[in-house]
Amino acid sequence: MGIVLENAILADIDPPRVEFGSLRIDGGRIVERGKSVSRELGDEVVDCAGAVVLPGLVNGHAHLYSALATGMPPPPRAPGEFREILELVWWRLDQALDAESIEMSARIGALDALRCGTTTLSDHHASPNCIGGSLDLIEEALAEVGLRGVLCYETTDRHGPDGREAGLEENRRYLEKHYGRPGNRFAGLVGAHASFTLEDETLGQLAGLAADFGTGVHMHVAEDLCDEEDCQARHQQFLIDRLVNARLLMPESVFAHCTHLDPEAIARVSQAGLTVAHNPRSNMNNAVGYPLVASFRCPVMLGTDGIGSDMFTEAKCAWFKSRDERAGVTPNGVLGMLAHSARRASAALDITLGKLEPDAAADIVITDYRPSTPLTSHNLAGHFIFAMGANHVASVIVNGEWKLRERVVAACDEPTVRRCAGDVAQVLWSRMEAIRTD
Ligand SMILES: [Zn+2]
Repeated sequence: MGIVLENAILADIDPPRVEFGSLRIDGGRIVERGKSVSRELGDEVVDCAGAVVLPGLVNGHAHLYSALATGMPPPPRAPGEFREILELVWWRLDQALDAESIEMSARIGALDALRCGTTTLSDHHASPNCIGGSLDLIEEALAEVGLRGVLCYETTDRHGPDGREAGLEENRRYLEKHYGRPGNRFAGLVGAHASFTLEDETLGQLAGLAADFGTGVHMHVAEDLCDEEDCQARHQQFLIDRLVNARLLMPESVFAHCTHLDPEAIARVSQAGLTVAHNPRSNMNNAVGYPLVASFRCPVMLGTDGIGSDMFTEAKCAWFKSRDERAGVTPNGVLGMLAHSARRASAALDITLGKLEPDAAADIVITDYRPSTPLTSHNLAGHFIFAMGANHVASVIVNGEWKLRERVVAACDEPTVRRCAGDVAQVLWSRMEAIRTD
């Protein structure tokens, strides 16, 4: 029994392509696309009434652990530079996380993502007082809501050797769990915080772990100038050289931000063919600067860095910030970043995401956006950036199953979950406030 979506504006982003037509879905995949498609007995037929249908969107760099941070109490003093933002805000939050709040954060983050048409997240998790099994908690929450995930644990040396070992072990455990068992729903990467909280020995262990599993390292790179300055002060070398020497520039790696790489470092990252995750809202929020995204010759994808999973808004901000910087990014370049998010997750999950074509995953967003002006393959990016938004997401199918139907979540009683989340957030915030910062 399949699903037929007919009378739809099929809007592909990889590459941009707009056609009026229909899709037939069966067995978790798209099986047919055309002006009209065949129907089989028992198929559910949905009239999209001329609305835009998109592939499920992908968040290339997420921090689900921040989902219960909305409105949390301010830090004991206003943070100045980037490192203080981490010390006073995010490193207090991650230390306060326990199993209950990790799972609830992931569940709320997943619900928020679903409502934005984001069906896959590449998450980067940290909970230094609850490391072992934390990625399973996130997987369970994502699976319950119905999303896909590429997960990793943020290895760091900021909690000593025991914390480092536990982080590495959680990555290894999770990679082993999915290694050689392609379920196409979840996969692992090797997670690492950033050069400025990682010792040389740890970098070597991260590279070794990635090599063991034929995967890459997902880490923050040159998000703020402090990463480069720390590297030169503590290791007497440029950051890019330290990463090259540690064998972290592998094609499977994901480098988030790359805000402060110079043209030579950008050339080396480009040559490695790894994927850069651009997070414009986070970069503006932390006032760390703007990466030269148009200079990279390797894939640049789009992530939110923990500010929800609304890829419509992230794409708009990528565009507006690039204009403000006179960075030479085109509207199709912004859509291309979304396409690269889907491609990177596709590679990790061994499935085709981000395309409305036969054999691709049936991860589909049905909007109620009915354009008031002509919509073509050539101006899709203009509609996406200037008119469409998460508010147009009406229904979402993941792996061929309805997960959001006419704005109602299928998996759970959403109001009840959100009420419970409020209680969990209150306790989490209390624990966080008790953590000293001096
Ligand atoms: Zn991040």
